Amino acid sequence: MPPAEHPAATAASAPRPTEGRVAALYLHVPFCPSVCPYCDFHKMLRSEPLVARYLDRLEAEAAEVATAYPGPLDTVYLGGGTPSHLRDAELERVFAALRRGWADADGRVGRLETTLEADPLTFDARRLELFRRLGVTRLSIGLQSSQDAVLAYLGRAHDAEAGLEAVRLALASGMRVNVDVIMAVPGQRLADDLRTVLDLGVNHLSVYSLTIEPDTPFGRRGIVIDPDVDADAFELAGDVVAEYGLERYEVSNFARPGEESLHNLAYWRGDRYLALGPGASAYLPEGAFGTRTKNPPIKTWLLGAPPERDVLDADDVVLERLMTGLRTREGVDLARLEARTGRALAAVAPAWLRDATRHGLLVLEGSVLRATPLGLERLDALLRAFVGSRASTPA
Ligand code: SF4
Repeated sequence: MPPAEHPAATAASAPRPTEGRVAALYLHVPFCPSVCPYCDFHKMLRSEPLVARYLDRLEAEAAEVATAYPGPLDTVYLGGGTPSHLRDAELERVFAALRRGWADADGRVGRLETTLEADPLTFDARRLELFRRLGVTRLSIGLQSSQDAVLAYLGRAHDAEAGLEAVRLALASGMRVNVDVIMAVPGQRLADDLRTVLDLGVNHLSVYSLTIEPDTPFGRRGIVIDPDVDADAFELAGDVVAEYGLERYEVSNFARPGEESLHNLAYWRGDRYLALGPGASAYLPEGAFGTRTKNPPIKTWLLGAPPERDVLDADDVVLERLMTGLRTREGVDLARLEARTGRALAAVAPAWLRDATRHGLLVLEGSVLRATPLGLERLDALLRAFVGSRASTPA
């Protein structure tokens, strides 16, 4: 029997965890069916001995983390890599470890949302039923494009028809669905890509620019993306997606109201979260302003090496809240930020705040600071200017 439908939690109605309680968990699965030439995530091809050692270590890590932070959890996100590349029995082990650590009385680990990142070639109707049975309520599909030439350029293993069929199957399963699209790819007809996906009835889209990192095959080949093409694509994406009634609630994410990713909202709101798996990052309620941790890469993670730790101070929190909060439609509540950090933004960066509002990049409504559409388009430069202009503040 299929599990109960996802409860009708929306971004606005979802309860916020009380300060200090950690209600979100990220789990990193580093294995991929093939390696894309633009990717700089922590990922690798699978081998049976490596996956077996990964699962052993993951079970031990989940037990340790659950002892320190027993939850309950509102959201769980399995990312990668390609979590759906794990076989049935392997996924069963992952979810069993999560349930041992964090299951509520109904056996759920993510009480509001459990997302699985999935490659189009790794699931069919039978696998979708398995995902649902394990407790997955939301699927994030790495489609990237609906055009064969673009998919070939990106080195993806699926073609357009296989990708779109995967999206259709996922939608028919009743799970919530996100589709990833990459924009600013040479030769891409972005509007066609977006319309093709939205015509299927998708309610959440993540639209990211193709970025070229130096330590990738694309970077080594010297591929460069024209910033003007990127800026045009950003604007076009906003216009096309708006025609379908989805809203840009984060700079790269669009959703029909109520379909926002609750897990990603937790990141962007500065909430704490746990992490499992090699290379995974957490934000723990340790120290006055929280502690960021990053697990080591797989080689040393398998040996039980501890994460790197960065104990934050008030200025770190101010910077982080601006960097993530200004990406979102919600913006940053400066009164809350001041209560949390003792820092008033008007005193920390007065010239930056004045200039950005005067130039129409930021708008202050009550105590909430938001980026305008123009500000979102120029967000990276805006945040760089903030870092450069911060007045030194007494500790
Ligand atoms: S599937 Fe995703 S994580 Fe894996 S190599 Fe491609 S872009 Fe990277």
